[in-house]
Amino acid sequence: MTARVPAGKRHNGSSRRFIVVSHTHWDREWYLPFEAFRARLVRMMDALIDLFERDAGFKHFALDGQTVPLDDYLEIRPERRETIERLVRDGRLLIGPNYMLPDEFLIGGEAWVRNLMVGIRSARQYGGVMSVGYSPDAFGHIAHLPAILRGFGLDSVAIWRGVGSDVKVSEFRWAAPDGSEVLALHMPYGYGFMAQVPEDREALARTLGTVRSLLEPLATTSSVLVPNGTDHLPAHSGLSGVIATANEILEGATMEHGTYPQFVAAVREELGDRYEELPLHTGEFRSSDRSNVLPGVLSARTWLKQSYAVCEDLLARYAGPLAAWAHLLRSANGNSPERTAEDRRLLGHAWKLLLQNGPHDSVTGCSVDAVYDDVGLRFQKCEQIGEAVYFESLREIAEAAAPPGEACTVAWNPLNVSRSDFCTVRVPVREGEEPTHVVDESGFAAPLQLVERGLKSPVDRRERAVFGFVANDVPPLGYKVFRLERREPAETARGDAATIENEYFRVTGETDGTLTLEDRRDSRVMRGLNRFLDVGDRGDEYTYDPPPEDRVVDRPDGRASVAVTETGPARWTLEVRQTYSLPARLTPDRRERAEDEVECEILSRVRLYAGVARVDIETEVDNRAEDHRLRVLFPAGVATDHSDAEQHFGVVRRPVAVPPEPPNAPESPVAYYPQKTFTDLGDGERGLMVANRGLAEYEVITEDDGTATLAVTLLRCVSWLSRDDLSMRRGHAGPGFETPGAQMTGRWTFEYSLIPHEGGWREAFSEAHAFARPLRALRTSRGSGLLPRQGSLLTVDAPELVVSTVKLAEDDDGVVARVYNIADEAIEAGVALSGANGRASRIDLNEENAVEADASRLTLRRNEIATLKFPHP
Ligand SMILES: [Zn+2]
Repeated sequence: MTARVPAGKRHNGSSRRFIVVSHTHWDREWYLPFEAFRARLVRMMDALIDLFERDAGFKHFALDGQTVPLDDYLEIRPERRETIERLVRDGRLLIGPNYMLPDEFLIGGEAWVRNLMVGIRSARQYGGVMSVGYSPDAFGHIAHLPAILRGFGLDSVAIWRGVGSDVKVSEFRWAAPDGSEVLALHMPYGYGFMAQVPEDREALARTLGTVRSLLEPLATTSSVLVPNGTDHLPAHSGLSGVIATANEILEGATMEHGTYPQFVAAVREELGDRYEELPLHTGEFRSSDRSNVLPGVLSARTWLKQSYAVCEDLLARYAGPLAAWAHLLRSANGNSPERTAEDRRLLGHAWKLLLQNGPHDSVTGCSVDAVYDDVGLRFQKCEQIGEAVYFESLREIAEAAAPPGEACTVAWNPLNVSRSDFCTVRVPVREGEEPTHVVDESGFAAPLQLVERGLKSPVDRRERAVFGFVANDVPPLGYKVFRLERREPAETARGDAATIENEYFRVTGETDGTLTLEDRRDSRVMRGLNRFLDVGDRGDEYTYDPPPEDRVVDRPDGRASVAVTETGPARWTLEVRQTYSLPARLTPDRRERAEDEVECEILSRVRLYAGVARVDIETEVDNRAEDHRLRVLFPAGVATDHSDAEQHFGVVRRPVAVPPEPPNAPESPVAYYPQKTFTDLGDGERGLMVANRGLAEYEVITEDDGTATLAVTLLRCVSWLSRDDLSMRRGHAGPGFETPGAQMTGRWTFEYSLIPHEGGWREAFSEAHAFARPLRALRTSRGSGLLPRQGSLLTVDAPELVVSTVKLAEDDDGVVARVYNIADEAIEAGVALSGANGRASRIDLNEENAVEADASRLTLRRNEIATLKFPHP
């Protein structure tokens, strides 16, 4: 799209206005761990307060669009709270709207909402929030960000990386797939463009000349944004003098000390009715044309991405909804408001710990090793809190729903579609008295399969065993009670030594280590699945970089060993064990992979369940090699020039081909991309969806016969934070520190699932969500039978309307439900909360600005997010 506002011309006759915005960019942890950077933060903030008090001409300072640095500072300097609050109230210190500056792609939709909710609420408590979205350093920008920002009443955002050369102006309209629009302020040369301003008059004149020649041609109004500050840089104490000198030097222009909101107001005021003439850009920004998007962070230290996905789902889809439901039950019985307050606080604390792992140098993996000791501990704490709230809440519901005097298991389904799926339960056992079946209220019995024995309870020291079963028809966002019974054990079928099958599929392990999958519904046979492909990597935590003379390893030593290790009645497992001999590391000159090899075992457990249309795979890799990238391949057997990958509130279609590289690009473009729980390859008639748990990077490879193969990255092993000798990137992206932890040596587990389907991705995405968010169950023998044997917390009458979370309201005793339309066209559907009378209000993402809504009839645009609040019953 081209600009109809001719850049750099509309201000004719009026004076240029340079608005200098002082800021610092505060990476909370990166090439130093958090506490080391905080020691610097305290000194920086102390000096800033002194400067404000000393120099009335130093008017404003933006604290990097986030509030967590202020929390960190005041923990050490609590006596300065009043001073800080005064500076915020006076509009001199600008804070928020974010809690932290995330990697936009690697955190999920609910983490995004929580980030802005915590940031805005915290900033208000300090005295006021900066009402401009701010993402100055993120490694590209997600398609749905304009919709998320508008959900918080923010109608502008400052961005940098990933904006391509098709964008010719520094201000433009940016739209999300749902049509929500914000004014984008693009910082074409980054947030550190005029980081240090010379005080010497002649040097200043030269700097101003550079600023004018580079920024003015891109400006759409007479105002030009000049960011002043960069990574961890203290405020420039001589700035007010420099601005005074600049105003003597400048011809036809003025310079003033301002803020991002002032710049937005100046642009909007000058454009007036011509605002609509600004060029419109829709969707994500991941171009390498003008700035580094550092795409290799998607696969650096894979365990971070896996942990983030697990923790975010635990809070948003297990603990959050169940705490809300337990609250509704207690309310109906007229007791325990304290428990609700406790759960709200506990979950709020867990979310903050998770958010602290979301910054663009944390979850990305591009920090020094010491940072990941802190990150790992935060994940553990988040999981401990989430599990405690989940378990206690489900137990309350389970005990109310189970019939008295019977041993039962109660399964929780976090998806808003009814499902029959595999589930496990831990049961105390005595030899000869183990249960054999689960039986639902209608009398339908499903066999139990012993999965693990010999566990001991820490409470009574009795043995526990884990049984698996297929829980049938568990209601949407709901529970179902099954009695544990001992009957005649079910017969188990014996498979042949290398094949497992269920109603949908027959899967065979081949001696080359790959899988052959026959879809029994249409007799389609897919071959060569689950092949591992290993290449050298001479890059760093930011960027994959192939050695000039690579050695590719794409098959095991000798024959893979294949064995059927579980034969039902609930689960069939095929184990494929193979050894890959990988070059041990790069040669010292880093031009090729070393001659000496190490043996790495790769063990895949391929699973089918009775009546489930997925092939789940758990792969363990014993990684003994360094400097390499290991991917797993899935030939889809269809020809396509695009992929459909799930992102935050919908699906993004991307081309298969590598984008062209313009001259002087800072990094080479790539065709590997981020994904959420799935990527789909299809030709419209049929396709293959591959679901994953926390594997963030995929690429589509076109085979010689034109068919497409999906590659999912499992490991990318490097030992440098940054290097300056890469072929894919010009220069450093950070300090050149060693990071042996990023080699990820050791044994790691990866989980993914194959979902062959007819039609497009809409036929299969619920199965991908089912894989990513499994049923979970607990056992109880203390039922009261007060509740029905099964029930739904929330029902939605269109599967395309995906429930993002159900949660306790932040500000009162209501319950909040958030849904989004994953489809590419408008959907009409109703949403109903258990026990509510249908009265609901539509609220924004900050849980404010309620308007009456008829929840039984909602129309949502493509990818639109709707948040509903149901009042306390
Ligand atoms: Zn940064």
